Amino acid sequence: MIVRRRWTAAATTAILISAALSHPGPVTAAPAAVATPITLAATETALVRVQLRDQAQLDRLVAVGADLANRPRARDGRLLADMVLTGAQLADLTAQGATATQIVQRAGDGSRHFADSVRAARARTAAGLAAPATGHRTSAAAAVDTLQVQQAYWWTTGGQTFLQAQVATTATDDPDVEITVSWRTADGATGSFPLYRFEDSGEYQYHYALPQPVPSRPVQLTATSSLGGVSRAITPALWPNAAPPPLPAGYQKDFIDAYLTPVDIQARIKRLARQYRDLVDVIDLPNRTQGYRRNAVAYLGDPAVSAVVVESVRFGDQGMNGVQVRTVDPGRANRPLTVGYRDRVLTVTLATDAAGTTVSTTDEVAAAINARQANRFRATVEDGSTGLPMPVAGPSRLDDGLQGTEVPAKPWTVQALRLGVHRDGSRVGVLAYSQEHAREWATPLVTLEFAERMLANARTDPATRELLEQVDVFVIPTVNPDGANYSFNDYNFQRKNLVNHCAGPARDPKYRTSWGVDVNRNYTVGSYFDGYVGASANCLSGNYAGTAELSESESGNVIALAKAHPNIRFAMNVHSYGGYFMWPPGAYRADGRITLPRPSIDESTMFLDSARRIVGAIAQERGTVTWPSQTGPVADVLYSAAGNSADQLYYELGIFAWDFEVGNDRWNPTTGEWEGVGFQPPFDEAHGEAQEYAGGLVELVRVARDHAAAEAATG
Ligand SMILES: [Zn+2]
Repeated sequence: MIVRRRWTAAATTAILISAALSHPGPVTAAPAAVATPITLAATETALVRVQLRDQAQLDRLVAVGADLANRPRARDGRLLADMVLTGAQLADLTAQGATATQIVQRAGDGSRHFADSVRAARARTAAGLAAPATGHRTSAAAAVDTLQVQQAYWWTTGGQTFLQAQVATTATDDPDVEITVSWRTADGATGSFPLYRFEDSGEYQYHYALPQPVPSRPVQLTATSSLGGVSRAITPALWPNAAPPPLPAGYQKDFIDAYLTPVDIQARIKRLARQYRDLVDVIDLPNRTQGYRRNAVAYLGDPAVSAVVVESVRFGDQGMNGVQVRTVDPGRANRPLTVGYRDRVLTVTLATDAAGTTVSTTDEVAAAINARQANRFRATVEDGSTGLPMPVAGPSRLDDGLQGTEVPAKPWTVQALRLGVHRDGSRVGVLAYSQEHAREWATPLVTLEFAERMLANARTDPATRELLEQVDVFVIPTVNPDGANYSFNDYNFQRKNLVNHCAGPARDPKYRTSWGVDVNRNYTVGSYFDGYVGASANCLSGNYAGTAELSESESGNVIALAKAHPNIRFAMNVHSYGGYFMWPPGAYRADGRITLPRPSIDESTMFLDSARRIVGAIAQERGTVTWPSQTGPVADVLYSAAGNSADQLYYELGIFAWDFEVGNDRWNPTTGEWEGVGFQPPFDEAHGEAQEYAGGLVELVRVARDHAAAEAATG
């Protein structure tokens, strides 16, 4: 046998960046080994891949509701997290021992990629190509541990074969156990790689590594431990080892040629309903959203010195944008503090002493406005200005600050498409819903591509027609249109909805990009309110759970649709990014990491078998293979997400409820690194995600059909 030298990927040197600790100045990093320095100005916001100092740091971030976009895993065991951060926040984290490793996406990238996609789509249309409408986880020191190989899978994509393994040691409390996996291929090549200990919420889970490139199909794998444990030899299995039926000749796809705003989505829904009258119903969901609206607000005074924040009770578009507010000196001694409103000007006349000097404080001014103009205005003392003298200031103009000019400023009716030949509840129902999180721009592309594929092919492909004969399909392309409008027009990293439940100083407009409720933390099962981990009571947190379970229109709509249609037995909650395929339980309690109940063995089998089929279908498009390590229960493979929608659908309504995180890491053969794609990648990537995950949803429909047929057969 030819024994090759230990086969490893090129350039395995970790890119470690020691960011400068100056605060609040720019975070700069420039060790010699780094190609691109990571620079982020104090006020600039970006999506950043950060190497955390330790598990405790990650746990703290989760506990305070940090905006964790993804929990990627480093192949050398470094703890990574993708987070939306300002330069100042990154400097704080850096001072606590974290290091930035990659700017995944800067704030400006989103609008550029959006504009590029629209421009390219127009150019294609002008060139007469692809018309969008018709197209297309202490033992005694000397004790030998026992090793169990939990997973050993291989696959090939893009001509490269990968091997991934997960191994558990019985020495669960020993953080220093080192586990090494050795492999051999059919033609005799051998190699090895280290695994890394994975803990979650302080509990040992197993040892794992990222998928490792290997020269060809591995036929044997053995794990050895530094404590002397040796696993039995395993033959790695092919992953996912399930493929959908081949696409028939003439199968129609590729119906998405640009990013789609909520207005675009509305138009697309309308067109599909018109074009496929016999197969489509449009369902107006019961709870209208707030709309793309905010209260109009202004600083009265200088926030750098002393100021009061004044805002309208009504929204800016309800006649309150442009209203003025000012403080005036009455010019006479011994006057009381008064408040008056006429001709769209709120005038606060300051109190004076016997010498005629103004003596009102910021607190007094705010209290006076609230006492005398409560029907029109709310005032709060700017954070840091409390008890200070109120200057003569203004007039200042109140404004809602919204930048979008082509967005309807009224409550939004969220719509669902219902597709099928028999839309009467007699067939098993499948629900696909997307964009609970506003910034996940690729996700409605997935569900809309899926919907149009089903409809267009129902006319030309007998197999698709048969699916729509047997299955009742529901699609909510954008659950959170208000947040989406804000993401497209104002702040591309917006995750939450637009409803501001903050009170007091948190209403300062300097926090405007941090308001809103995390729709996917606002549901009723395993919620923050029930004591589960992964959501926050802080209205400025990325994971703010809202004022109560189902306090928000958006979450209420998803549940209303599912309850109104009890034939719905399957659901897919489409998110981005990172390449995950998940199912319940999605949350655990902090103490002891007690998860929501595990599905039965039968149901777990159902989840995993179906997942393999769907992962296989996703891979059919461009070879994207969702890793076995990222296929499983949410609480195990990603993080605890208290009050997420899939848990309510599963535990309360008995629906097999999965989650996609579309946008798998891409393998860079040059660097030998897996790279994250972000929320708003260049459109070509988003397009690829839509195509591949739409195929996954089609397979979900087949899973539903097969499940219903099996149930019918057994009576
Ligand atoms: Zn999401």
